[in-house]
Amino acid sequence: MHLVIIGSGVIGLTSAYYLSSLGYKVTVIEKNNSSAMEASIANGSLLSYTSGPLASPSVLKMLPQVLLGLHPSIRVRDWHNPRFLTWSLAFLMECLPNTFSANRLTLINQLSESDSLMKKFISQHPFNFEYKKTGKLYLYSSKQDFDGALSFSKVLKKDYGIEQVPLTRDDCIRKEPSIASVNNLYGALFSPVDAIGNCKLFCDNLQTVLEKPPYNVKFLFKTKPVEFILNARKIERLVLNNGKKSGVKSVFRNKMGDNCYHAIGKNNSIGAGLRGCPNYIKFCGRARGYGIPNHNG
Ligand SMILES: Cc1cc2nc3c(=O)[nH]c(=O)nc-3n(C[C@H](O)[C@H](O)[C@H](O)COP(=O)(O)OP(=O)(O)OC[C@H]3O[C@@H](n4cnc5c(N)ncnc54)[C@H](O)[C@@H]3O)c2cc1C
Repeated sequence: MHLVIIGSGVIGLTSAYYLSSLGYKVTVIEKNNSSAMEASIANGSLLSYTSGPLASPSVLKMLPQVLLGLHPSIRVRDWHNPRFLTWSLAFLMECLPNTFSANRLTLINQLSESDSLMKKFISQHPFNFEYKKTGKLYLYSSKQDFDGALSFSKVLKKDYGIEQVPLTRDDCIRKEPSIASVNNLYGALFSPVDAIGNCKLFCDNLQTVLEKPPYNVKFLFKTKPVEFILNARKIERLVLNNGKKSGVKSVFRNKMGDNCYHAIGKNNSIGAGLRGCPNYIKFCGRARGYGIPNHNG
């Protein structure tokens, strides 16, 4: 079976890796002229296996500051966009305490699996991507926040075997002297399992691995899909803008894209405005950053 992955960021590339490992013939289509030029190059390098979801009750606490434009690190520029407002509402619903707790457990399960997969991957493909097990310090400004994190840390230890070390303010400064200037530090949790890695370097090296046997993944850069041609709801052909001249299209004549994977990061509205784009390509709004297998709807 031939699979097409749209988007050559870290999600598209890792999807290509696992799918070609399973024996699928894979083609990756990327609109830029190299891999990982969008979110995956901007990445902050953290490989955190203990983080909670971004949508948390603490976001609700900072909401008044954000709305008034007074928050030191969050600025919202697009208030008037109705799609942004709908998204914000959905995001805020995920911040409610019960939803957050459920999401946190789901996320920890995924992260734990991700950690095991990364260990296996590194042992099979020991290329350099500046990977280091540095550990991570989680800082807390109040006893209440610290105690909440500590009680979840006990769950991590009991249910997942993940160790986190509680640190007082002084322990924390001994570990990382630059923190001494933080005024409102109550305490910290040190998480040795967490690591760092250069996402762009990882992607470029993974692309090199994928282009060779046994994976033989084909990459089409400066290429975008402009039309999906369906037969009985199955993608039969993709019409591509080949990037050389606007309006010039290259068409895969052979049956292509029995399945189409969608890994285009923040640009999740790929279906909008494309002729023939089936509904199941359009449903990626809530699943940014993940490949979506489009099995016949
Ligand atoms: C500033 C910043 C810091 C971050 N820090 C961290 C961190 O420390 N740790 C962490 O784990 N995560 C971090 N993230 C999140 C992480 O980088 C993203 O979740 C991840 O890179 C998403 O990968 P992706 O492949 O889904 O998206 P992308 O890397 O954006 O890849 C999508 C690809 O699709 C292509 N594309 C889009 N539309 C089309 C189209 N129509 N046709 C063809 N190709 C198309 C794009 O050109 C792009 O190459 C950070 C993100 C940002 C922005």
